Amino acid sequence: MRISATPERCFEKTMAKEKLERILRHSFMGNAKNLINILLSINDGVYLTDRERRIVFWNRAAEVITGYSADEVMHHFCSEDILSHTDHEGNSLCQSGLCPLNQSMLWGVPGTKPLAILARHRDGSQLAVEVSVAPLVDDKGDVIGGVEVFRDVTEKRELEEAKARFLSGVTHELRTPITVITGYLEMMMEGDAGEISEDQESFLTDCLAEVQRLEKLINDLLDLARFEATEFSVRFQIMNLAPILERVVKGYAAEAEKKGLELELHAPPIDILGDPDRLQQAFANLVANAIKYTSAGKVSVDAGVDDGWAVVGVRDTGMGMDEGELQRIFEPFYRVDDESTRSLEGSGIGLSIVRRIVESHSGEIEAESRRGEGSVFTIRLPLTPLDTMRSLEGGEGP
Ligand code: ADP
Repeated sequence: MRISATPERCFEKTMAKEKLERILRHSFMGNAKNLINILLSINDGVYLTDRERRIVFWNRAAEVITGYSADEVMHHFCSEDILSHTDHEGNSLCQSGLCPLNQSMLWGVPGTKPLAILARHRDGSQLAVEVSVAPLVDDKGDVIGGVEVFRDVTEKRELEEAKARFLSGVTHELRTPITVITGYLEMMMEGDAGEISEDQESFLTDCLAEVQRLEKLINDLLDLARFEATEFSVRFQIMNLAPILERVVKGYAAEAEKKGLELELHAPPIDILGDPDRLQQAFANLVANAIKYTSAGKVSVDAGVDDGWAVVGVRDTGMGMDEGELQRIFEPFYRVDDESTRSLEGSGIGLSIVRRIVESHSGEIEAESRRGEGSVFTIRLPLTPLDTMRSLEGGEGP
């Protein structure tokens, strides 16, 4: 979700300013020793850098988590091999324009959400970490350095992966009998077990339709459960949105053609830090809906960049919805309650999954619609995870 308040306003909100200043004046008595002691004893890894990302402070938890002592890292650039932040594909963030700490210093705003990325222990082993960043500013508001707080979430991630493995096992167990039943029903309908009467064929057709409905429901439910289980292990990597959108549109081309719909895509290359599988799932859900709920006309997917955001719109000329329905469509299991929607298969889960995916990327989703005229679903994803940057006065980038 977007935080629209300016950094200054957030800052004001998070403290009783005057009281805090009084406490700081008395307890620190003009020197920073107490503050440094607090930072040293925090249970999360904390390090501070100067403007060039040279490490000037490294607390005890940082030593424990990474295996590097403060002596070893002091005055070194954090972009050297020290923490070696990478995305989940192993691409270095330190060397790229997407280094969270560097972005935070360039834009002068803190990140709004911890980023789940990878780091490296001194012994070479990989660590899953959640990282929060913020710039350090002087009295005049000039950025003089940065601070990164990081937490080792390797165990938590292993647990989430175990849950996901369990769910995919269950998925397999539920799907296998359904595949077998479908196969036998189809064989009987084709007469492989002897000739069948008209009545028998009609009963078997109904059975097949119900089994297919059950299969779709199981898939949707398991999708939702799987997403809940792995919600916090979205695997961020540097990715280009364009090929993902191309893959989605290509995947639905035959279905659109079958319904006589035009299917268009306009997508320039747009790099973001995101999870390509999850985002593909989200866009596929929107395109599938646009085709499903449109009987004539066009479905178009348009991507672009707007003020620090990647924006993807999925537009259709379909049945549309009323204002009251629009408010509820992102709730799990909600379906518009009318004749035309009921006649189309669906479980009401797809959009709730899309919303979760978008939110896990610090993005936002909006729907506009008019009954009988069509709908447009717009996903906005921060070009970097530091989504407050666009609230900067003037909105200028580095
Ligand atoms: P499902 O399509 O499986 O019912 P979703 O969660 O994807 O579930 O969508 C929820 C509801 O929102 C749908 O049942 C439908 O009523 C409405 N909806 C979604 N997308 C569109 C669209 N492009 N046009 C019209 N109605 C839509």
